[in-house]
Amino acid sequence: MRAHQTSHLSAGDFKTVFIVGGTHGNEKTGVMLVRGWQQDPAPVQRKAFATQLLVANPEAVRTNTRFVDQDLNRSFRSGQPGEAATEPYEVGRAREISERMAAARERGKVFAIDLHTSTANMGRTLITNTDPVNLTLAAHVKAHDPAVRIYAFPPGDRIDNCLRAAADGGVGLEIGPIPQGVLRHDVLQIAAGGVKCILDVLEAHAQGELPPPDPRTKVFLHEAHTYYPAPRDASDAVCVHRDLQDRDFMHLAAGAPIFTRLNGETIHYQGPPGRCPVFINEAAYYHERIAFSMVRPVALHQLMN
Ligand SMILES: [Zn+2]
Repeated sequence: MRAHQTSHLSAGDFKTVFIVGGTHGNEKTGVMLVRGWQQDPAPVQRKAFATQLLVANPEAVRTNTRFVDQDLNRSFRSGQPGEAATEPYEVGRAREISERMAAARERGKVFAIDLHTSTANMGRTLITNTDPVNLTLAAHVKAHDPAVRIYAFPPGDRIDNCLRAAADGGVGLEIGPIPQGVLRHDVLQIAAGGVKCILDVLEAHAQGELPPPDPRTKVFLHEAHTYYPAPRDASDAVCVHRDLQDRDFMHLAAGAPIFTRLNGETIHYQGPPGRCPVFINEAAYYHERIAFSMVRPVALHQLMN
């Protein structure tokens, strides 16, 4: 998000809300919801702002893959036009989406809700940068639904290259666990309910009806990825230890088992205290060898100064 544009936002600034599915083509929940709302937009229309519906990576949806050439959600700052014949598909899509958001910006600020699913036990997670407006909106969503977790990324490539960086504000909605390429009725309903809640909070924000958020609201601040240890040889393999599996957002104690090798050897946590792993054993991150990411729980007010 562009700090110079978001730091002065106040009530009523968001005039267009993009609801985006299919940023990753094998996360079908968001695609299905967006297509449904394209047929019947009533559930996502509000008086305070215009709603735009977008399937972000239709070619990856068609092939049921995360991306075609590269991750669209890491393509929004690398969007310099390349040679037409060699430009990655997602770089072109990032430019088209950025242009569409820029056109909408003529009416006022643009907010983006980006719909994702995870194979990890992420529950209902709002992913955002540390922009105070985004954090405030996320805290109000969590006030409506205490099971929601807020996962905030400090400035960096990962967050600055994502789709929401093309908007003036935004959150990602990450729901899991669900396998890639799969639709589940319960997950569809959870995602639709999450979008409704975000829209309701945005509308209250637009009408100036939002009180300050609870400063004690828990936020999980991203710190670092943890990578799989290298296998010792061709006969070795490493996977997440069964005691860590599905324990996303839970405190990780010193010495807790985190990995196991094929021969049964256990690898224990030796990092700093007070941390929680998230995106544990996420299928989409195998190609980057990321086993999980480490977050640190903080209170909202620690990020709002
Ligand atoms: Zn995704």
